[in-house]
Amino acid sequence: MPSADVVGLYSCGPTVYSFPHLGNMRAYVFADTLRRALRWKGIPVRHVVNITDVGHAVADSDTGEDKLEVAAARERRSVEDIASFYTKAFFDDLAALGVLPADEYPRASDYVPQMIEFAERLEERGYTYLLPSGLYFDTSKSPGYGELALLDIAGQREGARVEHVEGRRNKTDFALWRAEEPGVRRVMRWESPWGWGAPGWHLECSVMSIALLGPHFDIHTGGVDHRQLHHINEIAQSEAYLGDGRPWVQYWLHGEFLLLDAEKIAKSTGGGPRLADLVAAGYHPMAYRLFLLGGHYRSQLDFTNQGIDAAQATLRRLVGRVEPLRPLPVVETLPAARALLPGPDADKVAVAYLDQIDAAISADLATPRILASLQEALRDPDISTEGLRVVVAAADALLGLGLGDLDARAVDRRRSAADLDPAEVSAIEALIAARTAARKEKDWARADEIRAELSELGVEVTDTPTGPVWELK
Ligand code: AMP
Ligand code: ZN
Repeated sequence: MPSADVVGLYSCGPTVYSFPHLGNMRAYVFADTLRRALRWKGIPVRHVVNITDVGHAVADSDTGEDKLEVAAARERRSVEDIASFYTKAFFDDLAALGVLPADEYPRASDYVPQMIEFAERLEERGYTYLLPSGLYFDTSKSPGYGELALLDIAGQREGARVEHVEGRRNKTDFALWRAEEPGVRRVMRWESPWGWGAPGWHLECSVMSIALLGPHFDIHTGGVDHRQLHHINEIAQSEAYLGDGRPWVQYWLHGEFLLLDAEKIAKSTGGGPRLADLVAAGYHPMAYRLFLLGGHYRSQLDFTNQGIDAAQATLRRLVGRVEPLRPLPVVETLPAARALLPGPDADKVAVAYLDQIDAAISADLATPRILASLQEALRDPDISTEGLRVVVAAADALLGLGLGDLDARAVDRRRSAADLDPAEVSAIEALIAARTAARKEKDWARADEIRAELSELGVEVTDTPTGPVWELK
């Protein structure tokens, strides 16, 4: 249980029935940015990310089959196997993306008895009704139901939930307990006061967050899809359960979707690209993190080849510029960064960059602005080397790219000139022509500068009697 001065942070975790796709990982890079922002401000955090290994029915419905059971049947493996295999895949992606580990990763299947107790309390308080298909939460008894989604509640009640459940009083009512259908024995089943069955999907997050963060905590995150359904249901049942008239959670933050060809990438519609696919195509996982940080978490982001190519090139350039500055100091907070630039002789240019970075993270986690400040600082002729090292370390504490030790060769996707598109080739040739011109004018400083620029692009120039030739390093 956290103490009063520790921020409790809960992030809705993955349903572990298939590989996490790039869109899913966006949700966790966003939560990680929030954690890094709190750390930057010197605020200790206790972070809980759940693992949904039971309860999430197909199409988020109340009566459908459990996603884990469908996957187990499809892959002819046990549900335990499926859960542990895809949980590991999730952890692998988190590690590759430099996401700080959460304090707890509770599994829904470990909390079923507590979920039953939770639903019993709701039943005692008159919030529920029983149907043959399970125990339902009556949303008409929840005064502020749906407020988080900013929906017109009457409209929402009549709204888009397509699933028809016999006997459901309001369209927004949701299952706390999903009873086994007669003659169908679930693989994952528990005995409850309402018969054999499995918990509803929303229950686990209320139960596990309250168990691990206390009845009221500070911040809850998830993808935007959760704001319309999962989170309003979590709020309704938790506030009914606590019954103290206080808002359950103080702040809700939702990350926008990653799109592919203008469509949401969805696991349920056939997978979607994974981080491992990018790595197999020669991209560094941190190029994907950089790609994500180049957009604001509340904006939709289109995944494109050009976008990830540009991110990989930027990462390569960043690493090239940071390498000579290593080792970087350890800087996790603004005061720590300022303390490294002390006294009246402090590098005012570096201090100004730190302030810019602080203003950016404070402006609703404006990571694109931090990236811009970092790039600008790296090109700034007026910053001292020591100041630059502090600025780079500070920016990276928030961005989480691992610039202090990222291996340049790992980022440098070995490509041949034939892989370049015509625009890249003409950009390289323009730089080479500019260098040749500088050499003719005996402007050696400029010629060296251009050579360094080419080198950051992975281009090596050799001067031959017939003129310069270039190749990719
Ligand atoms: P799931 O494993 O389906 O329960 O989803 C895990 C997390 O990924 C949730 O917070 C979702 O809101 C989020 N998510 C799912 N699809 C996307 C997407 N295309 N872009 C961003 N986040 C997503
Ligand atoms: Zn949740």
